[in-house]
Amino acid sequence: MSEGLKVVVAGAAVYGASAALALAERGHAVTLVDEGPLPHPHASSTDISKVVRLDYGSDAFYMAQMERALEGWQRWSTRWTTPLFHACGVSFLARRPLERGMFEWSSLQGLRARGHDVEELDSAGLARRFPAWSAARYPGGYYNPQGGWAESGEVVRWLIGEARAAGVTLVDSARITGLLGQAEQVVGCALADGRSLAADRVVVAAGAWTPSLLPELRGALRSVAQPVVHFAPSDPTPFQAPRFSVWAADTSGTGWYGFPANAQGVVKIANHGPGLPLDADAERVFDRAWDARFRAFVAESLPALTDAPIVYRRLCLYCDTLDGDFLIDNHPQRPGLVIATGGSGHGFKFAPLLGGWIADVVEGGRAPARFAWRQVSAPKTEEARFGG
Ligand SMILES: Cc1cc2nc3c(=O)[nH]c(=O)nc-3n(C[C@H](O)[C@H](O)[C@H](O)COP(=O)(O)OP(=O)(O)OC[C@H]3O[C@@H](n4cnc5c(N)ncnc54)[C@H](O)[C@@H]3O)c2cc1C
Repeated sequence: MSEGLKVVVAGAAVYGASAALALAERGHAVTLVDEGPLPHPHASSTDISKVVRLDYGSDAFYMAQMERALEGWQRWSTRWTTPLFHACGVSFLARRPLERGMFEWSSLQGLRARGHDVEELDSAGLARRFPAWSAARYPGGYYNPQGGWAESGEVVRWLIGEARAAGVTLVDSARITGLLGQAEQVVGCALADGRSLAADRVVVAAGAWTPSLLPELRGALRSVAQPVVHFAPSDPTPFQAPRFSVWAADTSGTGWYGFPANAQGVVKIANHGPGLPLDADAERVFDRAWDARFRAFVAESLPALTDAPIVYRRLCLYCDTLDGDFLIDNHPQRPGLVIATGGSGHGFKFAPLLGGWIADVVEGGRAPARFAWRQVSAPKTEEARFGG
């Protein structure tokens, strides 16, 4: 293990802030840099909510990691006076009875095999437990009482505060324009205002902006925009837990998923799909054709939302690796440079583990093998493709 390193972390959202905190707690001198006002409103990590789920189809690796992460969410929750993690459980609904080969079926089997108590739902069960749903449309599915959602923007704010309290120097409203090097060795970074920051290690945790700092990653990381909408129903009661949970509705086929009403009565719904390739610095124009798609979905599935006004629209950028696994490793050709990104639409929920994984690499250790630098040519499998 290396001690007393000078580390610059580029990007102060969930990957970077959790890394800065973990590194400071291990005794390193850390500077955390972000272009934003913080949390940056365009960072994928912001918005009012992210799904925290154990449900990963047949992927036992992520399921096992999430069992640990969930303990982390529960540990963090004991420190918050205002709850930022809501353990309302997660429902996976399907438009046909569950059978082998379906994401929902694989998740259910995988969870049960690992000893989790999961309730299978048919239409009658769904109507009884979560009456806001047009239950006849969803004859298959299950409810997993473990998991729920995190107030993502607020969690990032809290992580940044914890990092500062642990001694991290925060440099905000500062864009990193490039890395400083002596031959291949990375020795710091340059800021747009002309300053430079020297470091023994630089961690690039810049999400969808990563390829603009490291163009060699353009083929390995793809930035794709996904639509998110907030509804404000006049009566949010039908959408409040425990009568409503985090959910995914036939996710492999439709991409729809969403959240219970938050304390402000806002019901967030998003669609996970192929997405629109978009450079992280490009203007984010929400195509209003999506309004009609969201409205058609709620009219058929969550009728009490049919006339609810849409109060917010957002394009959020996935930083996708080609196989859907994160990228947390040393750069193979540039000593001193660590890359921590590739959230691929499902990274937030691992917040309690991310910092430790990244700090291990900075100190000369390894993150889980699936996050190692790799040549990937295969696209994601259908199961791995579910975001949220
Ligand atoms: C629509 C959508 C829904 C999602 N839903 C979920 C979910 O429900 N559950 C889940 O687990 N995950 C979800 N995810 C994925 C999750 O949000 C991401 O995996 C995670 O937030 C990525 O965090 P990050 O820190 O890598 O990147 P970001 O949050 O994008 O942060 C990158 C930061 O780097 C900064 N930065 C970039 N370039 C520079 C530079 N040159 N100089 C200085 N600063 C820079 C930016 O300002 C930003 O603050 C979702 C993602 C999207 C888009």
